[in-house]
Amino acid sequence: MLLQEHIPVGTKTTMKIGGSARWYAELLTKADAEEAQRFAREKNVPLIVLGGGANTVFADGTIDALVVRIKADAVRIDGRNVVAEAGTILASLINTCAEHELDLSALTGIPGTVGGALFGNAGQGPKGTWLDSFVTSVTALVDGEWKTFSKDECDFRYRESAFKQMPDVVLWETNLIFPSRPETKIKADIERLIKRRFETQPHLKTAGSCFKAVGDGTPAWQLIEKAGLRGFKIGGVQVSEKHANFLLNVDKATFADVLAVTQKICEAVPQIEGIEMRLYGEDGKVVRS
Ligand SMILES: Cc1cc2nc3c(=O)[nH]c(=O)nc-3n(C[C@H](O)[C@H](O)[C@H](O)COP(=O)(O)OP(=O)(O)OC[C@H]3O[C@@H](n4cnc5c(N)ncnc54)[C@H](O)[C@@H]3O)c2cc1C
Repeated sequence: MLLQEHIPVGTKTTMKIGGSARWYAELLTKADAEEAQRFAREKNVPLIVLGGGANTVFADGTIDALVVRIKADAVRIDGRNVVAEAGTILASLINTCAEHELDLSALTGIPGTVGGALFGNAGQGPKGTWLDSFVTSVTALVDGEWKTFSKDECDFRYRESAFKQMPDVVLWETNLIFPSRPETKIKADIERLIKRRFETQPHLKTAGSCFKAVGDGTPAWQLIEKAGLRGFKIGGVQVSEKHANFLLNVDKATFADVLAVTQKICEAVPQIEGIEMRLYGEDGKVVRS
């Protein structure tokens, strides 16, 4: 594992906010992952595994943590069974599967990696399809030990997994099984879903949906819009005009701007319970969840 110091990590996220990591490394092998966990323990700092950074916002300044990125992105296909490493870009997995007549098209348009998608059980809204529909097991490094979790043990729920409760966990690979459909039909669905995304969601300098849907399934954007906060702005962070659950970095936004806007939304919409984005403070800990 090649360890580097003071590497900018805000620029590695889609929202482009945040400073540098005290330590940074890219992980190619399982041995690298073991070394990273050991190093973080020795230094007594959090280990933050960054996937595509599509759901992550870092504090400005120095993040006192070891931030790692998994570069392992092999995909093995055997019939309808697929093994994908955590660094695989979700969009490329969807396309590779389509070429093998395997259908993961429901997750089209979700940026980031397989690791990030497992961690937050990425997918459609509360009543739609999530990644866990296809997962049979996940292999992860927990407290220095490799463990393969059955799907039940992963405790997947809407935007949740058991992994969120495991400090310093490194998700390494997953076994999946997909339904089979003709490639042309899957590709037509992929195109249709990409088109719909571009029509309904912003794609520049955002971390995707900020808040989870509330308990009865009402999407957060509806409540934010009802509270009159569509287009609301503090500093460089604006609630998107196109989709009121997306925050945009419109002008050199800071972490404080993100916290101020999320605070304002939470005050105006008390039904909102959970934040979907992962906000990491300078101490490397999650600021809100
Ligand atoms: C335009 C846009 C649209 C989006 N639409 C959707 C959507 O429809 N549905 C949806 O669910 N999400 C959506 N998102 C959010 C985001 O794409 C997903 O949450 C995605 O799964 C994040 O993946 P990532 O690799 O970028 O994760 P990151 O942002 O890098 O990480 C997210 C969290 O997962 C953890 N993590 C990542 N990889 C690992 C690993 N290997 N081991 C341990 N922990 C790990 C990180 O530590 C962090 O806490 C959208 C985002 C954008 C920008």
